[in-house]
Amino acid sequence: MSNISLTYPRVLLKLSGEALMGNTNFGIDPDTLSHTVTNLSEIVKLGVQLGIVIGGGNIFRGVGLTANGINRVTADSMGMLATVMNGLALQDALKKVNITAHVMSAIQMSNICEHYSQRNAIKHLENGHLVIFVAGTGNPFFTTDTAASLRAIEIGANLMIKATKVDGVYSADPMTDPTATRFSKLTYNKVIEQRLGVMDTTAVVLCQDNNMPLQVLNMNKDGALVRAIKGLDEGTLINNE
Ligand code: UDP
Repeated sequence: MSNISLTYPRVLLKLSGEALMGNTNFGIDPDTLSHTVTNLSEIVKLGVQLGIVIGGGNIFRGVGLTANGINRVTADSMGMLATVMNGLALQDALKKVNITAHVMSAIQMSNICEHYSQRNAIKHLENGHLVIFVAGTGNPFFTTDTAASLRAIEIGANLMIKATKVDGVYSADPMTDPTATRFSKLTYNKVIEQRLGVMDTTAVVLCQDNNMPLQVLNMNKDGALVRAIKGLDEGTLINNE
């Protein structure tokens, strides 16, 4: 591992379930998973301590299941279990390229993975291992974005990164509005006032209240993660200044 001085030595990366799904409609696409692992291995080589919160939207989202008549709390439990499946798949794919990752679940399932504890998570990170946080916050009515904000704060991350399909936060939807411009920097106040839709409000406010900087970038853009971790201009950086 490299010992270069890093702007952000400990980082929490939020990956949505879509990061494993690729262009398919459901589940885990092996090529996309392998591409994600290649991206991750580049930042692991920098020597950064990396925690990952993985979503479950490629399998189940509580809100979607509720629309099909399933009780919301049950549906959210199914969504949280989906994140566990994704976390296990990611751990397995990382192992194949000799990267050790611990899957830590907010809901205890000791035969499958470790139960989340802040102390053990930090120990793993200090030992140079990745930690994949699954089962969100362990509670219904939350999202994995909120889980990511929470874990970022708990592990004392220097930066939270939200990897999306778009290369930052735009003034309008760049897919439909050709005049949309990318913000390279934003404040949390502006994100909330202008309802910029970066993450759900709970997740944004947690970061704001705890001074956690957030970088929004395109995971599929080559080198984007490395540039962000080196403190270079990439995507959109949001903080309180
Ligand atoms: N979920 C939950 N509590 C949490 C985190 C997630 O109930 O703390 C459920 C919720 O149903 C959500 C699903 O898990 O829809 C998958 O998470 P999310 O939608 O955030 O995944 P992503 O969109 O990032 O793939």
